[in-house]
Amino acid sequence: MKPLEINPPRTREIKGLKDDGHVIIECSACGAPLVDCWITKKKFDIQTKIIADCPHCGDKSFEQTIGGGFHLGITDYTVLVDQTINDDNNQIYIETAKGTKLWPDK
Ligand SMILES: [Zn+2]
Repeated sequence: MKPLEINPPRTREIKGLKDDGHVIIECSACGAPLVDCWITKKKFDIQTKIIADCPHCGDKSFEQTIGGGFHLGITDYTVLVDQTINDDNNQIYIETAKGTKLWPDK
């Protein structure tokens, strides 16, 4: 039997960006993974609030606060269509669409 591979080494050191971790934003109703926030500059003194809508059930995520500089990425289930930035409270609202995999994953 092949041993399970736990925490395989990650090689995301591309274009000089350091991998400070990922935060997956999930739908508050159906739990679908909506947005992959890849934190690349954790030391940046900035807090950004993120909300994403859910193309699977029509609800949306809870507001999630991300500390530092980051990139927004898609998940297997959800792609990003558009984003609206509210400068008053540093909040990003993300519009999404269904990705390559169906949610819920069966
Ligand atoms: Zn949902």
